[in-house]
Amino acid sequence: MKKIAMLNCLNSNKVCAGAACFTAFNKRIRSFERYQGMDVEVAAFMRCNGCGNDPETDAGILEKVERLQQEGVETVHVGICTKNKEGVRCKTIAKIMEMLEEKGMEVVDGTH
Ligand code: SF4
Repeated sequence: MKKIAMLNCLNSNKVCAGAACFTAFNKRIRSFERYQGMDVEVAAFMRCNGCGNDPETDAGILEKVERLQQEGVETVHVGICTKNKEGVRCKTIAKIMEMLEEKGMEVVDGTH
């Protein structure tokens, strides 16, 4: 079974239940369309640790990235909530995306 994870904005998660992400996954639509007919499990729903933290020295982020790897997560989908209104990705998330790729995980832009 393929394992995937989602990465989202902590600020957004104060008002977001993640329902749109999970609906898209359960229906295999939007960025999850690629998994139609496949045996796939959402193994983790990860958030950043908030603005102003350098993910490369943030022990909690390092632990979360390590955990995804231990879980055997192959692909991480990054939510649109990690981009501003102009469509520019948060620099903290961009760094976490690099860290995930350095650990051998595929990173996909988008969930729902
Ligand atoms: S660091 Fe970026 S993704 Fe995280 S809470 Fe702040 S704006 Fe959202």
